[in-house]
Amino acid sequence: MNIHEYQAKALLRSYGIPVSDGRPVTRAEDAKTAAGELDGPLWVVKAQIHAGGRGKGKFKEPEAGEKGGVRLARSVEEAAEFAKQMLGRTLVTVQTGPAGKQVNRIYIENGSDIARELYLAMLIDRATSRISFVVSTEGGMSIEDVAHDTPEKIINFEVDPATGLSDFHGRRVAFALGLEGAQVKQCVAIVKNMYRLFIEKDVEMMEINPLVVMTDGNLKLLDAKFSFDGNAMYRHPDIAALRDETEEDPKELAASKFDLNYIALDGEIGCMVNGAGLAMATMDIIKLYGAEPANFLDVGGGATKEKVTEAFKIITSDPNVKGILVNIFGGIMRCDVIAEGVLAAVKEVGLKVPLVVRLEGTNVELGKDIIRNSGLNVIAGDNLSDAAQKIVKAVKG
Ligand code: GDP
Ligand code: MG
Repeated sequence: MNIHEYQAKALLRSYGIPVSDGRPVTRAEDAKTAAGELDGPLWVVKAQIHAGGRGKGKFKEPEAGEKGGVRLARSVEEAAEFAKQMLGRTLVTVQTGPAGKQVNRIYIENGSDIARELYLAMLIDRATSRISFVVSTEGGMSIEDVAHDTPEKIINFEVDPATGLSDFHGRRVAFALGLEGAQVKQCVAIVKNMYRLFIEKDVEMMEINPLVVMTDGNLKLLDAKFSFDGNAMYRHPDIAALRDETEEDPKELAASKFDLNYIALDGEIGCMVNGAGLAMATMDIIKLYGAEPANFLDVGGGATKEKVTEAFKIITSDPNVKGILVNIFGGIMRCDVIAEGVLAAVKEVGLKVPLVVRLEGTNVELGKDIIRNSGLNVIAGDNLSDAAQKIVKAVKG
């Protein structure tokens, strides 16, 4: 689960980590008051969307000379003007994809005088299953570019969970960033508090780009991108409350409401499968036979008819879906329940694309009968390979 920059900064502030004072604003008419509550003489007006690269981003239908989604203002009036220009518009950045994201909120904060921009991230390294630091002196720009062009400028190390974090790790970060004197102490404190936040709130990834050395020599976190472990949100109601559903894929959002494990993908074949392993295998075999899956979907072991119906509706709501493959192994799940769910969904939303169903396991004959007697134009698959070939053929011809 992701949160906005202004929310991440409030969390960082509550952990004693230095960030600028700021105000989130959703209505243009509130921008001037919000900016007026800050000291100046420099204000930063920042689009709040769940994507990075805002500074270099471009608004759709730009006006002449218009800047991106992070702008420096020299007066309260200018800050309010920028806020007004950004709100409600669609911002396209390297991370939003070509469709861009609508800016429903902006954040106005006190501007900082920057001497150096640095990079600091913490994340769970899947290879080692440990919390890992990623540190670079090349902050402010895309870390992917740094990794590609000058990989030696990225320093990486992890924390042993048995001993936990110590000041040594903070000093290691400070050294990697070329910090000196009092900055080292500040850095040690920042790293310690970030680590505490990371552990206490079940964070998955925390990216600070840039962490800056200001002209007065102090450190500050100017941008923050957080993502949390969605499976741990039940024990963090305060974090769960930060979820902004308008930022999420509507199909994934609908799926989460019905407790379906769904991830939207770019391909043309919609998949409805039970069990994550079978779902992965189904996606693999679709690729093997020359097509691409439109989604990952695991309806779970004990799915009800209603859940299956919702799952089917979500798949058919995707305009990229040119064919559907239902691949169910009924262990706990019963094939007749799946069949009834599919029929109920088809009755509700119609079926405009080819549908291949492969059922196996508990009550398989009953399930097949239900589909056979439905009068629907469903292609039966005998096994995984056969079903995948049939749906790819139906879609690709
Ligand atoms: P991103 O483009 O989405 O990553 O947004 P950032 O918050 O990282 O801002 C982009 C860039 O704007 C930063 O790398 C800085 O160069 C600049 N910037 C952001 N905040 C300030 C500020 O307070 N003062 C100054 N001078 N520049 C800033
Ligand atoms: Mg940034």
